[in-house]
Amino acid sequence: MSGIYLHIPFCKQKCTYCDFHFSTSFHGYREKMIETMQDELLLRKDYLTDKQLNSVYFGGGTPSLLKEEEFELLFDSIKTHFTLSVDTEITIEANPDDITIENLAIWKKMGFNRLSIGLQSFKEEDLKWMNRAHTVSEAQNCVELAQKNGFTNISVDLIYGLPDLTQEEWENHIERVLNMKVQHVSAYCLTVEEKTVLHHLVETKKINPVGEDAQSEHFLYLSKRLKDVGFLHYEISNFGLSGFEALHNSNYWRGKAYLGIGPSAHSFNGISRQWSVANNSAYIKRFGINDEWFEMEILTPKERWNELVMTGLRTSFGVDLEQLAVISPITKSFNEKVNLFTANGWVLTDSNKLFLSDEGRLKADHIASELFID
Ligand code: SF4
Repeated sequence: MSGIYLHIPFCKQKCTYCDFHFSTSFHGYREKMIETMQDELLLRKDYLTDKQLNSVYFGGGTPSLLKEEEFELLFDSIKTHFTLSVDTEITIEANPDDITIENLAIWKKMGFNRLSIGLQSFKEEDLKWMNRAHTVSEAQNCVELAQKNGFTNISVDLIYGLPDLTQEEWENHIERVLNMKVQHVSAYCLTVEEKTVLHHLVETKKINPVGEDAQSEHFLYLSKRLKDVGFLHYEISNFGLSGFEALHNSNYWRGKAYLGIGPSAHSFNGISRQWSVANNSAYIKRFGINDEWFEMEILTPKERWNELVMTGLRTSFGVDLEQLAVISPITKSFNEKVNLFTANGWVLTDSNKLFLSDEGRLKADHIASELFID
């Protein structure tokens, strides 16, 4: 089983913290973009050896901006070249301001069976400085509207570690989400990425980033509260009720093959990684003319090892030591580091696998880098 990711590189406006690839002035070429993505689906139909898909994911950007006929064209191509079953998880990322009865009906008709909604915050000032296109009332009401219109597998995104977001406010956001009775929650710590508006705001001291202690407090509370009510904390930023863990992301973390379509989309086939140019006009112009619309790298044993460590530590599946040993022998120094991390309670071991404790999850990058092959 494998998955397809479609990157829809359009947004209404630029969120201050975002470093994903998208454009806000796309109306003149949206038709050409969809046509090129269809061409890419055709050209790369043999990239996945297994044509049976367990996941199709429309991300971006903002896929909830697409029109019915644009979805139809993309699904026609997907269904022509690949096989979907009744169990295939078909996800659309949607922003609260796009969740209307009309759009929900279109998404249902297209076959979407999972909604991933970018709520981010229930604090109006935060939505404003983040330049989100929606309001608190839209964030509050969109989930119920989606549920009333037949969506039974809903994930919501939240951001924590926001400047001036108190612990009390964060706890209130979590309670509001729990009251919504969603099946999945993704919560991300605000990070200040270079070349973002947020980076500029921090550099010019218009926004003060939150210290690590407050971010850790947000994270530890989130993990405990969600686990207390039955969510599985199956990846650092992801929580799902049993049976509602995202197949799409799990494919990435388990090292399964996936095909990424559209500008900036990444693909992986177990041997190499490939990514398309993160520029809408270059993607459209170069596609089909020569190979300059993408780059590719063959993964070395060192990269495969480091990826297994990084992704395994982030998930509840853990790092499989037998899988690592196939790539390279487990050294004495590796075992010594693992023993050190288990002694201070950051790493747990079970059945030849390594996992992070909640405390360890706060230091995931550091622990992973210590266990990498140089
Ligand atoms: S809507 Fe999503 S992709 Fe678009 S700018 Fe905001 S965070 Fe980035």
